[in-house]
Amino acid sequence: MNRCTRAILYKDNLKYNLQAIRKYVEEPTKLCLAVKADAYGHNAVLASKIAQEIGIDYLAIATVDEGIELRNAGIKANLLLLSLAIPQEFSEIFEYGITPLIFGEDYIKVFIDAAKNYFKSPKKYPVFLPIDSGMGRIGAYPQEAGSQAKLISDSEYLKLQGMITHFCVSDSISPENQEFTKVQFQRFKEAVENVKAQNINPGILSCGASAALLNNTDMHFDMVRPGIIAYGYYPDQVTKEYLKSKNKDFDIKPVMALETQVVAIRHFKKGQSISYGRTYICQEDTDIAVLPIGYADGLLRRFSPGLEVTINGKNYPVRGRICMDQCMVEIGKDNKDVKLFDKVLIFGPKESGANQTAEALAKLGNTISYEIFTSLSKRVERVIF
Ligand SMILES: *Cc1c(COP(=O)(O)O)cnc(C)c1O
Repeated sequence: MNRCTRAILYKDNLKYNLQAIRKYVEEPTKLCLAVKADAYGHNAVLASKIAQEIGIDYLAIATVDEGIELRNAGIKANLLLLSLAIPQEFSEIFEYGITPLIFGEDYIKVFIDAAKNYFKSPKKYPVFLPIDSGMGRIGAYPQEAGSQAKLISDSEYLKLQGMITHFCVSDSISPENQEFTKVQFQRFKEAVENVKAQNINPGILSCGASAALLNNTDMHFDMVRPGIIAYGYYPDQVTKEYLKSKNKDFDIKPVMALETQVVAIRHFKKGQSISYGRTYICQEDTDIAVLPIGYADGLLRRFSPGLEVTINGKNYPVRGRICMDQCMVEIGKDNKDVKLFDKVLIFGPKESGANQTAEALAKLGNTISYEIFTSLSKRVERVIF
């Protein structure tokens, strides 16, 4: 593939970030790296291999197919499936050694039957019990945890390997939200007590994703589940500066750069319009660089107006609507700094030559960096650097 619109993955930065996480989270706390959604668009196989080198305990996936891809690539680490599978996928869970979340009486019973069918003779297959401590998504309520853990542990086919919960506002620094995270933590502990009261070992306990990992160090329990920080971005309001104000030191580097090239330089007259909808009218005679990147690559239409890109160290504004496969950038009349086929950086770490990170695009699109990465489509080749 020779297409110039591509994502460069700085693997040394990924390693740097994982090492930073390992240093920040003291042993023996386990690490579970979220590599779901192709490692947030950063190549799950690459991320998993580097994570294995660092000695990570679990890799978190969202679908059974993601797990199969990793197993086929030779990944041996424990795979924790964070979303619920359907019965048609259960035999693949067993075949590929994926650790699922199961909860809810009916669901657990169907899962036990599937395990019986698959293994024929008793086998303590590991599963995690998720707890809904306030996220409002999946999981048993704390008061149901004891009976559901019992259902799991009474089965000859299953073993309760651990319990997890997920915080919904731990990436916010407002006092109310920080208070809610504490309430969630308390409810999770209550769920764990309910399981222990049944004489069942609750196994590995885990609640924090990136934000709580950084900000709520008292909530690490046995395992934390970082995602976004491994890829070099802070979770919303829990930033480097905020952590510093709390005497916590944590440094990471963006892993991905998105780049393209100038494929045409056009001369426009004052009053000429650019792109669909004629939303931009040239204010004077000017030159426009055309880039072969558009919303089908993940450069969202709503980034314009506002988006700037970097060419040879300088920023230039995108003009008019971003099209499916192309967009236009104003470089100004007779600009000697921009030539045909010059490289263009949309975002990336400093060493890529970009002047901005994906955080700038997230702000423009009124979203979070996570969505910028997962929006990059498959025709954007990921190149490991
Ligand atoms: C995605 C996810 C994570 C990782 O979240 P980050 O904010 O990227 O660190 C952890 N736990 C669960 C349950 C998740 O869904």
